[in-house]
Amino acid sequence: MGRKYIFAGNWKMNHTLAECETYFKKFLALLSGSPLEDRVIVIAPPFTALYFVSKLIEGSPVELGAQNVHYEKKGAFTGEISPPMLRELGVRYVIVGHSERRHLFSESDELIAKRVRGAYEEELIPILCVGETLEERESGRTFERVDTQLREGLKYIDNLSRDRLVIAYEPVWAIGTGKNATPEQAEEVHRFIREHLQQVFGNEGAEVAILYGGSVTPENVGQLLSQPNIDGVLVGGASLDPEKFFRIVTVEVKKAESPECRLPDYSQIGDDLLDIVNRYKRIAIVGVSPKPDRPSFVVMDYLIKEGFQVLPVNPRYEEIMGIKTYPDLESIPQDLQPEVVIIFRKSSEVYPIVEKAVKVRPRVIWMQEGIENKEAKALAEKEGIKVVMNLCFKKVHQISKWKK
Ligand code: PEP
Repeated sequence: MGRKYIFAGNWKMNHTLAECETYFKKFLALLSGSPLEDRVIVIAPPFTALYFVSKLIEGSPVELGAQNVHYEKKGAFTGEISPPMLRELGVRYVIVGHSERRHLFSESDELIAKRVRGAYEEELIPILCVGETLEERESGRTFERVDTQLREGLKYIDNLSRDRLVIAYEPVWAIGTGKNATPEQAEEVHRFIREHLQQVFGNEGAEVAILYGGSVTPENVGQLLSQPNIDGVLVGGASLDPEKFFRIVTVEVKKAESPECRLPDYSQIGDDLLDIVNRYKRIAIVGVSPKPDRPSFVVMDYLIKEGFQVLPVNPRYEEIMGIKTYPDLESIPQDLQPEVVIIFRKSSEVYPIVEKAVKVRPRVIWMQEGIENKEAKALAEKEGIKVVMNLCFKKVHQISKWKK
């Protein structure tokens, strides 16, 4: 089994101890006998109820979550709760950077990054919330905002393990408003988040669970979870009602197939791929990573072994594994001009690279599967450059299978 679905309930400032008792009596009775092997259920009550709820859920499938955490282990921080204090109560998950903390309590990206680090180091699983405001969405800044929140919020995390972090995409305009993002709107951002995590943390990042939050109900949860990159939900209002939350956590999930993660069919090698192998030898890779587990590195390494002349483009490195690196496409000398330019970047970053690539005049621009930037494609094609958008490092391995 791959990742488990995560259903997390954020109770916010709701439920007294007496109400917790009534809630769990009903919720656990409803849950008993439900098949839950492929899912994790988390409830994050207020701090005052954590100990009490930890006792109520003993021996049940429910995990305990908290709604915030400080980054220091102890000290003069009036009103704050430390990571070891939460651990002591049996807390496993902790929500960090919820939009109410960001907007009502002015929590900055820096503070949130420290909270994430504090939780992570204590082996609590941070659920880092990110999401754009309505104004940001309407002015076309959704991806930029989410990118910044991820970059900043995770800046103190090195050596990420996939099971020790969760991201929740919660568009601010959808929280507590009854207006939820459509499954397609949510999927677009989830895919962007996955690409971001993969670029920063490699394969471990690509496997992190990404939840959607914002007016999730028993009626819309199935559609949301059918999207390839939605791994669970963070639920506010509807988690306060045991019956509604039960219907949410037991929803039947019918996953749509992910268009970009399909395993290639090795019996059918695409003509485009063979065309590149047959006709071109000098290849520039833009965005090549120096880390051996990144797809761009794997592709570079592979192509070098196969006898291609590879020109890595990465402004931050002078050499990768002893190979000269170019800060940008324009600095590749005239006599080494690439015939093919491979682009390993996020969809939103592709256009300016294609603008530069066009000046180098390669025969083919080859992009990672899943990159969607129609403007960039149109620009290259207008200049008579062929654009192939099927590069997946698994597919590169097809080349060797075909050659044998
Ligand atoms: C939340 O607070 O994280 C949330 C998603 O709330 P709601 O489900 O009520 O929109």
